Amino acid sequence: MTHRVAIVGAGPSGFYAVDGLLRANPDLHVDIIERLPTPFGLVRAGVAPDHQGTKAVVRQFDRLLALPDVRFAGTIEVGRDLGWDEVCEAYDAVIVATGRVIDRKLGIPGEDLPHVWGSWRFIAWLNGHPDFRVGPDLSQVRSIAVIGNGNVALDVARVLAKGAEEMARSDIVPEAEAAIAAAPLADIHIIGRRGPEHASFTGNELAEMGRLARAVAVTDPAALNVAPPASGPTPERLRKAKNLEILKGFAAHQPGSKPITIHFRFNAPPLAFRPGEVELAVGILPVDLVVTCIGYEGEPFPRQEGVYAVGWARRGPTGTIPSNRAESHAVAKEVLAWLVARDPKSRPDILPAAIDAAGWHRIDRHEVAAGAALGRPRVKLTDWPALLAVAQDD
Ligand code: NAP
Repeated sequence: MTHRVAIVGAGPSGFYAVDGLLRANPDLHVDIIERLPTPFGLVRAGVAPDHQGTKAVVRQFDRLLALPDVRFAGTIEVGRDLGWDEVCEAYDAVIVATGRVIDRKLGIPGEDLPHVWGSWRFIAWLNGHPDFRVGPDLSQVRSIAVIGNGNVALDVARVLAKGAEEMARSDIVPEAEAAIAAAPLADIHIIGRRGPEHASFTGNELAEMGRLARAVAVTDPAALNVAPPASGPTPERLRKAKNLEILKGFAAHQPGSKPITIHFRFNAPPLAFRPGEVELAVGILPVDLVVTCIGYEGEPFPRQEGVYAVGWARRGPTGTIPSNRAESHAVAKEVLAWLVARDPKSRPDILPAAIDAAGWHRIDRHEVAAGAALGRPRVKLTDWPALLAVAQDD
């Protein structure tokens, strides 16, 4: 008998864990249990649709689905279709890779107004997540506040600012693309509660904001009179110094010199949202839409022997996709060490009928074919009935 490991969540950290397990012990059986009919989690639903280079990582994950001892079980939600206790009981080890998919709240007045969106909900809409099919009404939106100074804030601002040509090779859903193209957008404000020396942008992503066809990035040079941090790990200091250099370049740009102006505003904690405006500690800003990009929270899962967490479920919502690889491999080693001391359990298969890898590949082929007709990587299926119909149409 072989040991059986359940990976709960088919995102990148889960796949890196599968990779780590099977590299070290090819005799293992792995079930990847996923609530959606499609794998790849954040890569499919969270990475910005114009960053296709980042999304290319799924090719290596898809190869793992072809292995005989790896089973994909889509449309099964642990906590709904199966209890956590059942899963823990049935498998020799469980790896929780459920990420963090709840928008963190600022805790200020007006956060529940209809024009205030969390970044997860907003980006999931752009990316065709079947639970987030309705986007904001952009038809009257001229001015947008993007709250937060991380790469997600840049993703949101960039996708809103890009023109049709720049999105032509993306897999943004057509409804979102049309809504953005038709919006009378003129100003996007990226708002940091602290100074530019504390921003968590990375250099390549920040620099890209200075190369957009229909948008100019600007900032107030007075906000940049700060020294980059003198202490801290060297890569962090270099990253922050590079950010300041890039922002100095933006400070020389002319607001209004392109149809959309992206304003980087610092030291401006948000205090309240009201219809048509956001109150910042430094004054009132008129805006028609707010997207908060301040991080994510996760769902609880059991913390007990034999249950391990990886990725954002383990360490919180930080780190790029490749940074999960080493961590997931290290956790896989811990799991294997735990299994070595235990006999495999003899338990019946508890998985209900699911969308398997063949079903996912039918969805994949359908989407890629729809995209090929338009010169795009894919056109996503965005509603549950269509996803299930295509997955089951053999
Ligand atoms: P992040 O880098 O942690 O940025 C979160 C931002 O929210 C910070 O600027 C933080 O400000 C701000 N914030 C938090 N609470 C706030 C509050 N109450 N009021 C105002 N601002 C608040 O997280 P992220 O942008 O969500 O990105 C998550 C991870 O994914 C990061 O590691 C990121 O690099 C990665 N990612 C990478 C890419 C890419 O490589 N292209 C793209 C997207 C995401 P403080 O610093 O003041 O707390």
